[in-house]
Amino acid sequence: MHFPMHPLDRYFSEHPISGGDISLIGAEAHHLIHVMRGKVGTRLIVFDGRGGEWLAEISRVERGRAELTILGHQAVEREVPFVLTVASPLPKGDRQKWLVEKLVELGVTRFVPIRTARSVTQPVDSAIARLGRIVIESSKQCGRNRLMEIAHPEDWHDWVRRTQGFSARLVAHPIDRGGTPGFNATDLRSLGILRVESVVVAVGPEGGFTEEEIAAATTAGWVQVDLGPRILRVETAAMVMATLAINYFRGLEPTEQGASRVTT
Ligand code: SAH
Repeated sequence: MHFPMHPLDRYFSEHPISGGDISLIGAEAHHLIHVMRGKVGTRLIVFDGRGGEWLAEISRVERGRAELTILGHQAVEREVPFVLTVASPLPKGDRQKWLVEKLVELGVTRFVPIRTARSVTQPVDSAIARLGRIVIESSKQCGRNRLMEIAHPEDWHDWVRRTQGFSARLVAHPIDRGGTPGFNATDLRSLGILRVESVVVAVGPEGGFTEEEIAAATTAGWVQVDLGPRILRVETAAMVMATLAINYFRGLEPTEQGASRVTT
């Protein structure tokens, strides 16, 4: 199947697609029929969040429902080359939406809302459910075919002790050591990471992590990262940490022995 060169509108199917005809209902059908004025014969891309995308054509339009004929599958992924987890408290109001949207665009695999001593917004169920819809909208826009997972909220103290499975764990906290802000290659090399499969970065609330919370993390093996002399908001710090992680750890490439080395 030949996929067209010009970008087609992307739609999300809540039901797994396996190649046969499918229906779009709810918000996706509304968008296609009423906003984009889709008609029989209109072509589009549909994805189900489990990887890959399908070229489809509208075969029938009903009230609140569009029937699609699947024309072909393309096994394309737009993911970062390792599992990237971002943990942060939920910021207030609209900034939650902004944070989740940007993390999806950057390619983050999983977002873990954390509860810390100075957190102000509680990650309640309704807030978490709302974020799920933002993940879908953002994935439609940026071309991701796998959905960023919104994990269950975690208490920082319990959770940091259970993060041994990650290849690298980095927590943003001002250090004031007068060095260059950002990932310190010496600190990271000292961890002796041979192969990066999963990285977790964490950011604290507007009031900052307490010294106890930072001590719990560093005792458990987390590396502290300074982001410079200005105080960033939670969502800015989360984006910067995600970007630094992608930039740094994609430099770890497999060697002939099957291990990895830092090429930067
Ligand atoms: N007054 C707080 C600032 C909180 S900003 C304090 O002094 O810690 C919210 C979160 O963003 C922080 O907990 C930290 O994780 C991250 N952050 C913001 N600016 C930072 C910086 N310059 N260096 C390291 N982390 C930073």
